[in-house]
Amino acid sequence: MRHSWQIGKVHGIPIRVHWTFAGLIILVVALTAGSGGEDVLAALGWLVLLFGSVVVHELAHSLVARRRGLSVHDIVLLPIGGVSEIPELTRSSDDELRIAVAGPVASVGLALVFGVLGAATGAALWPPTLVTGSILIRLAWMNLLLGAFNLVPALPMDGGRVLRAFLARHHGEPWATTTATRLAKGLGMAMVVIGVFVDVWLVLIGVFVMIGAQGESQMSTVRAALGDRRVADLTVPIPYTLPEDLRVAEVFHRYPPYPWTAIPVEGASGYVGMVTHSSLMAASPDVLVGHIADQHVPLLDPRAPLFPTALTAFEQSRGFPVMPVGSHGRVRGLIAAHDVEALVARAPLATR
Ligand SMILES: [Zn+2]
Repeated sequence: MRHSWQIGKVHGIPIRVHWTFAGLIILVVALTAGSGGEDVLAALGWLVLLFGSVVVHELAHSLVARRRGLSVHDIVLLPIGGVSEIPELTRSSDDELRIAVAGPVASVGLALVFGVLGAATGAALWPPTLVTGSILIRLAWMNLLLGAFNLVPALPMDGGRVLRAFLARHHGEPWATTTATRLAKGLGMAMVVIGVFVDVWLVLIGVFVMIGAQGESQMSTVRAALGDRRVADLTVPIPYTLPEDLRVAEVFHRYPPYPWTAIPVEGASGYVGMVTHSSLMAASPDVLVGHIADQHVPLLDPRAPLFPTALTAFEQSRGFPVMPVGSHGRVRGLIAAHDVEALVARAPLATR
């Protein structure tokens, strides 16, 4: 997530704090400053414990995701809670169920541990408290609340993911997502309306749910539109590839204009990278083409599925308009991002 700072790393997973978090700290200081320095410190200490609990919750999601073979980008802390950034494209509904359940299970587990520790010190577990009394009992209730609130069945919250995974087992993924996102938009709207009277955080979470639910339904549309089509289905032949040891000046002298904005470059051992028209125009005439080729653009296997392989490749190559397609390191053709987009746009309305 952009505009966030790394504050640590657990099991190789970066923990980051979003810049909006500074607003929360300022708010906490402003609300407590009137009653003295000790109260400010106590409130900030409580904030650290609260978000420490959120990190444990998110780590549970992330570690289960990693055990299921998915890569975890990072965990980002926002004022309204944490987000584990795990690519959604490659998830099965079984993965989704296990990853989603892990967070609330960890929170309830923490609540039990703090509850038992608190009871051992002789503090009363009842009535529920978040504001005063034993810190252990407050942490127990807070983690229980965190676990329970996340189970509200509103995508993209954990409960919504659990609901979708269950629905997908019997009715298929597109229907499950449509139903779960409709429910989520309704619940998000209700949170906003109730939040106006009760608490501003509920308004923010309601907005987060409505935006997130919209994103989930778009993703599902794309998945349904691309179905089980392969990269080969959209691959177009190319007139030539450029040798890596060619000078830029020679490209313009010896080669006819290229119909796409980027050209694959090949060397003796196969595919090297992609060179764009604009980088050819900007480069000095003596530079070798291989030196200005972007080597981060992968060679796509023609048998790979459009969803998620090609889509992920386009996403990760920072808006590259075309991708080379080939096997055994040799380029056979290109696939254009706008052809993939056109396929999604032509999808029957029923799947949108
Ligand atoms: Zn969660």
